[in-house]
Amino acid sequence: MVKEITITVEAGDEKNTGLHENLIKKELKKNHINAAQFEKVFVKKSIDARHGQLKLHLRYKIYIGEKTAAAGEWKPLWKSVQGAGKERTVIIVGSGPAGLFAALKLLERGFKPVIIERGCQTSQRRKDIALISTRGQVNGDSNYCFGEGGAGTFSDGKLYTRSNKRGDISSVLRVFNYFGADEKILTDAHPHIGTDRLPQVINAMRDKILELGGDFYFNTRVSDFIIEKGRISGVKTIDLLNGEKKEFSGKAVILASGHSASDIYELIAKHAPAALEAKTFAAGVRVEHPRELIDKIQYHGRGSEAGLGAAEYRVTAQVEGRGVYSFCMCPGGFVVPSSSGPGEIVVNGMSAAARNSKWSNAAIVVEIRPEDIPEKFKKAAEEAGCPPLAGLFFRTEIERLAAENGKDQAAPAQRLTDFLEGRKSSELPASSYTPGLVSSELGSWLPPHISERLKKGFVEIDRSMHGFVCDQALMIAPETRTSTPVRILRDKQTFECTALAGLYPVGEGSGYSGGIVSSAMDGENAAATII
Ligand SMILES: Cc1cc2nc3c(=O)[nH]c(=O)nc-3n(C[C@H](O)[C@H](O)[C@H](O)COP(=O)(O)OP(=O)(O)OC[C@H]3O[C@@H](n4cnc5c(N)ncnc54)[C@H](O)[C@@H]3O)c2cc1C
Repeated sequence: MVKEITITVEAGDEKNTGLHENLIKKELKKNHINAAQFEKVFVKKSIDARHGQLKLHLRYKIYIGEKTAAAGEWKPLWKSVQGAGKERTVIIVGSGPAGLFAALKLLERGFKPVIIERGCQTSQRRKDIALISTRGQVNGDSNYCFGEGGAGTFSDGKLYTRSNKRGDISSVLRVFNYFGADEKILTDAHPHIGTDRLPQVINAMRDKILELGGDFYFNTRVSDFIIEKGRISGVKTIDLLNGEKKEFSGKAVILASGHSASDIYELIAKHAPAALEAKTFAAGVRVEHPRELIDKIQYHGRGSEAGLGAAEYRVTAQVEGRGVYSFCMCPGGFVVPSSSGPGEIVVNGMSAAARNSKWSNAAIVVEIRPEDIPEKFKKAAEEAGCPPLAGLFFRTEIERLAAENGKDQAAPAQRLTDFLEGRKSSELPASSYTPGLVSSELGSWLPPHISERLKKGFVEIDRSMHGFVCDQALMIAPETRTSTPVRILRDKQTFECTALAGLYPVGEGSGYSGGIVSSAMDGENAAATII
């Protein structure tokens, strides 16, 4: 018999296995199971800091009279595809989680993935990213969003998702673990890899795909689609190092280009405008606090001595019919410049595996529905022949305004308390954001739909998380890329684009997933239907 049991212990008893065994026996007894002998396998840990307490919930799989299923039992099914012809070749645009996991799925069934990526490999990408902080220079093809591994490579690598109906989350975690992510990701309730470990994991995936016969073309931007008799048969590309133009064709094209690739949405608008649909997205700011302060709020007055690592939080509020909520919280992390081109400022967050920086940050964003987009952007999209692009134009404008109110990649920022009072901060607190900050009255240029709701939202958030609004809380703007403002419509079962046969839009850019794990599963699912 195999049974899952959850026990609850004090924070300091995480390693007290004797206590765990006694509690498990008690639980078994409660369930009328008398077992003097059993084997236990640890499954998951979650921290419970609600109601002024600090507890750990530990889930175990209990094997009674049965052999334990070893944690490492999962085996990859990938096969070599050396020599596969065009009939078994699939073009993948983008090497983010959606593209990489689609490639791995294809390799399970003898299909050859050809991955085309505008950005460069992680080693060079790291240098381009450093230039954003040191010189305020953004390379439009190699940055926090574009390059090997996609937007996830230099991220926190948080691997939690609520998309558990989409597929097998644990199998995605096992793949990450197979390629070098810490085993802890298999058992933590909120697993994360850490920005210091992710690039190696991504490199190991690339090496495996190459070893099995898949191809990668880095520094190669897709510039157009090849469409024959109403069906996409391949893509036209430009080599960004030598300007050489090339064409790639295959049985299908998986479009895993992420939500920052505005040029790809424009291509779809040109060839298949009916494929685009406006969708709800969100925009706002990053809020950064000293880590110790967040730990104290969440751990009820105890800081790092609670021994639980940097504290997380999740906050939500409803303001005038729209959600105001936290997103991508990075405990012990950094705020990073994640624009994907010059002339714009976008911020995001990340953390290292140890989550030990002096700060904790999260996006606090306001829901934006298609009907909330100001008229001028709707009109511009209509004039461009594709009304669903209005949200994209609005997003671009917020990022441009941020650049106007910042300097190079130094982002506009304000103390939260000053924002609520509508006054520019006379000086700003120290921050993890390395390109620098420019003091700015954010309420004077952020669209009122966002700034007014943020103001009311913060007041409400502070009621549930007392101390959140304080002099040390710093707002850095803008956070605009939590999800895409446009969806590329596809068939529910086959994942094929409804307006362009042969095209399979997947991942965050398709508008059907968000985050690393759900995008990875989305890529896998599309590859499975192609197979
Ligand atoms: C700083 C940061 C931190 C984040 N932290 C987390 C986190 O902790 N947890 C989490 O779940 N999510 C996080 N995210 C979001 C996460 O990275 C994305 O949800 C995820 O990467 C989406 O995967 P994807 O494969 O759909 O697209 P992407 O990862 O965006 O990959 C798309 C790829 O397509 C390429 N591409 C685009 N256009 C073209 C073209 N024309 N030709 C060729 N290639 C092209 C891009 O260069 C890119 O590499 C973070 C994002 C950022 C920026």
